[in-house]
Amino acid sequence: MEQTQTPQDSFATADLTDLVACPVCDTLYHFPSIPSGGQGRCARCHHLLIAPRANAMTRIVMLAVTATILMITAVSFPFLTISTHGLNQQASVIDTILAYSDGLMVPLSLAMAGLIVVLPLTRLSAILYAIAPMALGHRPARGAAHAFRVAEQLKPWAMAEVFIVGVAVALVKVGGLATLTIGPAFWAFAALVVITVLKDNFMSSLIIWKTLEARGAT
Ligand SMILES: [Zn+2]
Repeated sequence: MEQTQTPQDSFATADLTDLVACPVCDTLYHFPSIPSGGQGRCARCHHLLIAPRANAMTRIVMLAVTATILMITAVSFPFLTISTHGLNQQASVIDTILAYSDGLMVPLSLAMAGLIVVLPLTRLSAILYAIAPMALGHRPARGAAHAFRVAEQLKPWAMAEVFIVGVAVALVKVGGLATLTIGPAFWAFAALVVITVLKDNFMSSLIIWKTLEARGAT
């Protein structure tokens, strides 16, 4: 963040509570005041630290609600229909997960259910729990800071998006053998990928932490 003093200057007089560290290179900065629409990048490694947006909280909540609805659609509606020699077989994500629920494949089934359905939904709920009351102008809910920490920790593990890439590859392979019809769940997943990227873009962890702290979240 170019307008702050260099880290060395700031240590002697630093008020430790307003120091923030770059998550990539650990350079310390004073929490800067950046106008809405501006960007604060690390002076050393150029990692984007904060990018305040007007109504960011409301937008995050709306995107998270949209993502939750898409997620439920994606899981419960047919993902694709395979037709070959007059036979039709529909498959939803739940069918796919249950297909591996015997014997040695059980761990695979549990891992799929966890990574594709349970973790992303848990993360969305944690984000909504932490942010929705503040977006509506209330005090943070009890345990909001804890919920947001869970959401941050789950981020690398919520892989609904990776599933769609895997499925796209499989579709190309199977496409030659049978007629495939893409179901509504496929499009819900595709939209989910876009919404997730938008939401994570709007969601500056640093600003949410500061807001939670300022409003006395526990
Ligand atoms: Zn940095």
